[in-house]
Amino acid sequence: MRVLVVEDEQALREQLDADLKAQGFAVDVAADGEEGLYFGREYAYDVAIVDLGLPKMDGMELISTLRAEERKFPVLVLTARSHWEDKVLGLEAGADDYLTKPFQAEELLARINALVRRAAGYAAPVLRQGELSVDTAKKEVRVSDVLIELTAYEYKVLEYLILNPDRVVSKTELTDHLYEQDFDRDSNVIEVFVGRLRKKLTPINPIRTVRGQGYRLLRETPS
Ligand code: CA
Repeated sequence: MRVLVVEDEQALREQLDADLKAQGFAVDVAADGEEGLYFGREYAYDVAIVDLGLPKMDGMELISTLRAEERKFPVLVLTARSHWEDKVLGLEAGADDYLTKPFQAEELLARINALVRRAAGYAAPVLRQGELSVDTAKKEVRVSDVLIELTAYEYKVLEYLILNPDRVVSKTELTDHLYEQDFDRDSNVIEVFVGRLRKKLTPINPIRTVRGQGYRLLRETPS
């Protein structure tokens, strides 16, 4: 999952960057509204965290501009202002949730995970498709209740696929959502991750290859 952080306070920006990376997110950070708009237009995000009080372009204008341009990723607003009107305006501009500063990192991460999960159509915190379950808070994967040990990148591939079930996901799309902007990407490694994942998830085989197009994780309706 790839997240955009738009925050002008350097210490908080660096803290968010570190906390989110520790949770397995690919993170791009912007220090003002214009930079945030550039990133939001240029790259594919799964979620964004936007401070309302920003130089060059405020958070409210940034969000309404992105929404007007059909950028639909969930947005969590950060605000130092305790006035309830600002929260309402943020939500009306197109934000999905808000958090008032100061906040606990745990609460922010829980809200971000919930936004990503709900945008993918899952209500419960543990994502299930048939015998496969993925706990996005604990980063734990189980097949028929047996815990499966995955490396960080194997987990990230599986999490992205289960958050986008029944849709063909290309290697390029996976690369775009798993790595931040400056990362040295190689989409061939995706094949290696998927190969290892399949071995570890045996006997189930939830990830299908769509020749020349990518991968599809099958959606299974609970029986
Ligand atoms: Ca600010």
